[in-house]
Amino acid sequence: MGIKVAKFGGSSVADAGQIKKIGEIINSDADIRYVVVSAPGKRFDEDTKITDLLYLCLTHIEHKLPYEQVFQMITDRFLEMERDLGVDVGMKEELEEIRRQIDKGTTADYLASRGEYLNGKLVAAYLGFSFADPAEFIRFSDKGKHLEEETNTGIAFALKDVERAVIPGFYGAREDGTVKTFSRGGSDITGALVARAVGAQVYENWTDVSGFLVADPRIVKNPKPIKQISYKELRELAYMGASVLHEEAIYPARVASIPINIRNTNQPQDPGTMITAEPARLEEGQIISGIAGRKDFTSITIYSSHMIGQKGFIRRMAAILEDHDVTIEHIPSGIDTVSVIVFNHMIDGKLDDILDEFQRQLKPDAMDVQSDLALIATVGAGMASRKGTSARLFTALAQADINIQMIDQGSSEMNIIVGVDSADFEEAIRAIYRAFVAES
Ligand code: ASP
Repeated sequence: MGIKVAKFGGSSVADAGQIKKIGEIINSDADIRYVVVSAPGKRFDEDTKITDLLYLCLTHIEHKLPYEQVFQMITDRFLEMERDLGVDVGMKEELEEIRRQIDKGTTADYLASRGEYLNGKLVAAYLGFSFADPAEFIRFSDKGKHLEEETNTGIAFALKDVERAVIPGFYGAREDGTVKTFSRGGSDITGALVARAVGAQVYENWTDVSGFLVADPRIVKNPKPIKQISYKELRELAYMGASVLHEEAIYPARVASIPINIRNTNQPQDPGTMITAEPARLEEGQIISGIAGRKDFTSITIYSSHMIGQKGFIRRMAAILEDHDVTIEHIPSGIDTVSVIVFNHMIDGKLDDILDEFQRQLKPDAMDVQSDLALIATVGAGMASRKGTSARLFTALAQADINIQMIDQGSSEMNIIVGVDSADFEEAIRAIYRAFVAES
């Protein structure tokens, strides 16, 4: 079999008990050669993540407040983990070194990265793996821009002769050796970068859920898990607000067509969700992959009987929005109407000005603004080859007595987006779920 890269998120490595669990997972699969770890996360709901404690330390230092108490909490947790795991990584000395760096006036990124660094040391010692410090091969420019190619060759070179290693997530370094972190949650990116550089057969991303669900469980009761989904479909769902992996994190695996498998550390027997380059082979009766939606859109509809045949109408409309620094999300259009859909926050305090400009430059017959619009995307690569998908969707919404305010089907036929009143948002998602998933 090929190489597997496994990344374990904060809750999977929150304490010695969790690290023992990941030890079992790794030891039962010899293909897992490279392990990427986050800093210890929350052990229980009210707990604080180590990274948050490190940032809290920084805030104290920046405000010239004593930081000892917060640092002590970090110290206690790491010393306890070292003891409970029965390893010796010289944790006390490591923590003293960090303190010395603080007193010398260290950078925010260095301090924030220490959660991953120390955890990497612990996990490597516990597993008996090598420890590979990403400050040596994940590269950033002097200005702090991530350098993709240098990183890719850097990782491949550093791990070339290393049989099994633990690599802390979240950070790398500039040319001069100073540490630079990715954005929050950045260990996912490290995992994908390592997977790409070593040509992994799969990138396993271990967390505390058994993959993605077809719909938001706060809206649909016990939604089915998504077994397999393509990168493209996932992107559509992410854009619509589904909490899935960050685009930046997927990118390195995606360019190399490496499948990502989302798994649950606390339920390792679950297969999780497999994200692949190609759309999934659909199971019997399955048409869609997921449903996601977002509230807080505004639609501005312009009615103009002269629109057809007029050159530059849409361009001028788009230019007015651009002048107001507003990005356009969708432009559904009819013969005499065109609507533009934007996020509410984008036009906060600007709407009247924009409408005035529309009036002046576009001379519409009428305009209509709807500010409480919700958009719902029904996503599935399988929809293109199925007749009657939209009929099924619209019938479901009609039966639930929901008025559709807008329809937009991307030309890829991978999704159908409907706009409904925000008040109908949850019910519309449930109706779509019933029509496509529960009844399939
Ligand atoms: N520890 C970092 C954070 O909390 C990075 C990560 O866990 O992915 O954002």
